Amino acid sequence: MTAAPRRLESYVCGSWNPGRSEGQLLSDAATGAPVARIDSSGIDFAAVLDHGRRVAGPKLREMSFHDRAAMLKALGLALMERKEEFYTESLHTGATRSDGWIDIEGGIGTMLTFASKARRELPNTRVLTDGEVEPLSKDNSFVAQHILTPMRGVAIHINAFNFPIWGMLEKIAPTLLAGVPCVVKPASQTAYLTELCVRRIIETGILPEGALQLVCGSVGDMLDHVTGQDAVTFTGSAWTGRKLKSYAPVVANSVRFTMEADSLNASILGPDAGPGTPEFDLFVKEVAREMTAKAGQKCTAIRRVIAPRAHVQALVAALGDRLGKTTLGLPYEEATRMGPLASLDQREEVRARIRDLQADAEIVAGNPDEVKTGSGDATQGAFLNPVLMYCEKPFGASAVHEVEAFGPVSTVMPYDDLEEAVALSHLGKGSLVSSIFTDDPAVAADVVLGAAPFHGRVLIGNRASAKSSTGHGSPLAPLVHGGPGRAGGGEEMGGMRGVKHYMQRTAVQGSPRLLSAVTGRWVDGAPVQHDVHPFRKSLAELRIGDQLITAARQVTQEDVEHFAHFTGDTFYAHMDTEAARANPFFDDRVAHGYLIASFAAGLFVEPNPGPVLANYGVDNLRFLTPVYFGDTLQVRLTCKEINPRASAEHGEVRWDCQVTNQNGAVVAQYDVLTMVAKTWPAVAA
Ligand code: NDP
Repeated sequence: MTAAPRRLESYVCGSWNPGRSEGQLLSDAATGAPVARIDSSGIDFAAVLDHGRRVAGPKLREMSFHDRAAMLKALGLALMERKEEFYTESLHTGATRSDGWIDIEGGIGTMLTFASKARRELPNTRVLTDGEVEPLSKDNSFVAQHILTPMRGVAIHINAFNFPIWGMLEKIAPTLLAGVPCVVKPASQTAYLTELCVRRIIETGILPEGALQLVCGSVGDMLDHVTGQDAVTFTGSAWTGRKLKSYAPVVANSVRFTMEADSLNASILGPDAGPGTPEFDLFVKEVAREMTAKAGQKCTAIRRVIAPRAHVQALVAALGDRLGKTTLGLPYEEATRMGPLASLDQREEVRARIRDLQADAEIVAGNPDEVKTGSGDATQGAFLNPVLMYCEKPFGASAVHEVEAFGPVSTVMPYDDLEEAVALSHLGKGSLVSSIFTDDPAVAADVVLGAAPFHGRVLIGNRASAKSSTGHGSPLAPLVHGGPGRAGGGEEMGGMRGVKHYMQRTAVQGSPRLLSAVTGRWVDGAPVQHDVHPFRKSLAELRIGDQLITAARQVTQEDVEHFAHFTGDTFYAHMDTEAARANPFFDDRVAHGYLIASFAAGLFVEPNPGPVLANYGVDNLRFLTPVYFGDTLQVRLTCKEINPRASAEHGEVRWDCQVTNQNGAVVAQYDVLTMVAKTWPAVAA
């Protein structure tokens, strides 16, 4: 059954726009049947950027990090409910079910991970503080704090054809969390899947209008209208990336440009991982999987296979054998293990790159020109057998380290010692990821430390993690995705690091009172209030700066000895006068740090049932001055930060806790973390 090609539309300035001209025809990767037409002519691209900045920017910035996280969670769950529709559309791209899983559920999962990490790791505020308060004056009247605020522009995300959903969601999740609107431009070839996903996103009504716009087709003159408050991210070929990065308005406005381009990722077989070891088998499996998943059209796929010379023959035989069993075919057929490339043009492109590689390497398995499929017609669909190449002299070669054949193609190259293996990994001139398969800790340390400066991520594979490892080729939301040099020099994701890419870091200097007003966080030296015990206050009553100064308590030798025997901590510095005096840090026996923290809790606690529900930890605990027998402790506890939970009857409160001795010296400093009820007595639900 051949349906008429769908007309793709851009979602810009609040409505769907089909473009003005007939546009480009997009074909099914496996059958060549027409799927869609795409065109963006007639769109006013300056207005698109303006719409995002003017309409969505203020609405997003009004929301707190937790509000935005809740929005992303709702969106992720809504998309997950619609995933089957995406899987069906994804077949046109040539993706099998497992390829589609990486793109669709991998993308939605990434968005959900960002949402949950943001709720756990970011405060429920609109401004982020970065690092500690810096004292700048002796009398504490002038201090500084770095803050991060959302940029006032839009983020333009230009994506590659290989991951139409993941590529969009992994970029818009951190951007929206930061409070910045997005304009997404998918690669034309597979834009129908991105368009479908954006339609479903817009239909949910979860995002504020203008927070996500979509351009199907060329971005026209959009980059002529960027300002220093906008950001551009690019995934695709190094050639296009460099062109856009050096585009005059991008350069003139110092527009943040994140690029992820060609990457000649390497995987190294350790010298200990010869045939017969679990690591050898894992390596063979991983290389074959990386070559065939998404038909090798993954930016993280293994392109260079670096192996000890002694094991090369066995490796080539094992890989050739495994790859030879890969059934090519229509993506929806159950027997199919590898689908086609994204288009016939892409197949010609890959064949041309294989010819380039042949300058340095010979084909040892698979014939790029003779395609065998289990189903599907290789004249209509972009099928290509996996092709394994071998380069005997990789140090004298250039193509194998420079040419990215974006398909099921890898080159095996031998090394004689580990230093050579690391040096070969460097010849990729910067890659997204590299891996080492070894069970030897010394090999793991040498290779990882040697390869790390040239890579954004390094995976160690061995028998212990075989079952749980997420694999060489999987970028993960909490981890950095990007690489130096040839890989583009960019960084995406990386958990909450990725959110900060869309925020401006500013050093703010001033008096503690005014700095505290800016950040919403109490700063030492800012005003404080003393009335009822702050642990008697619910979130509704508690204020930043509410403070308790406790009674004082003397620490005796009996206290220390009792604590030592009670807990079993009879460390000599608490128990043995002579040994304690010989210790360079102490003049005599000292109290345990944990005894100080325990006494502090005893001093500041309000014992009756009340709004403080639990103490869930301390941050940055430091013991700064030794406490000797006879010293007197006192605590100053100040409400530092309040984070009400959106979907709970409580919130988190961070307390600045300072313990001093009779001379005013700070003996311990830390943040106490508590859960506090929003109202007290609790209102029955
Ligand atoms: P391109 O660099 O041609 O395209 C990438 C994106 O840039 C697409 O969305 C494309 O849109 C857009 N684009 C192209 N020209 C411009 C322009 N002048 N202004 C604004 N946007 C532009 O890469 P392809 O997707 O065609 O892939 C080509 C090769 O790139 C692959 O064969 C592979 O070698 C490499 N690649 C590398 C990836 C990596 O991460 N390492 C990922 C994907 C590809 P449109 O599609 O409409 O032209």
